[in-house]
Amino acid sequence: MKNDNCIFCKIAAGEIPSATIYEDDDFRVILDIEPASKGHALILPKEHYANLYELPEELATKVLVVAKKIVGAMTEVLGCDGYNVLQNNGEAAGQTVFHFHMHVIPRFVDDGQVIGWKPGSPSAEELDAVLKELV
Ligand code: 5GP
Ligand code: ZN
Repeated sequence: MKNDNCIFCKIAAGEIPSATIYEDDDFRVILDIEPASKGHALILPKEHYANLYELPEELATKVLVVAKKIVGAMTEVLGCDGYNVLQNNGEAAGQTVFHFHMHVIPRFVDDGQVIGWKPGSPSAEELDAVLKELV
């Protein structure tokens, strides 16, 4: 299903031109317009799913296979030293476009880019309490 108000639906369908680096029946992979690094790409399903919660399991499995293809090609062509594969869900997590997408961000030694989080320092009891909540 497509969402008429969704820019990534239009890009994925080819209705809005994009810098496409890979395409198959399920996904289009485009370059990000505000890249964190040279080659920063976004994997977009062609159907509209707002986030990982909505993404069907079959596509969730396939998207990582596509990511693997892309990072292989990037390592070969761009000579990147590493890459981040990440995916934001919900405004609280930094999602700004509400059509599922996976970021593939090539990284270069000393590229100065910051992608991360502030490490916490819970006590053993606090960690244990979280574990008990989750299992
Ligand atoms: P999010 O913050 O939702 O995880 O990531 C959205 C990403 O989409 C951002 O990195 C942003 O630069 C990118 N983006 C937003 N609009 C467009 C667009 O129209 N074209 C392309 N190629 N990238 C976009
Ligand atoms: Zn969409």
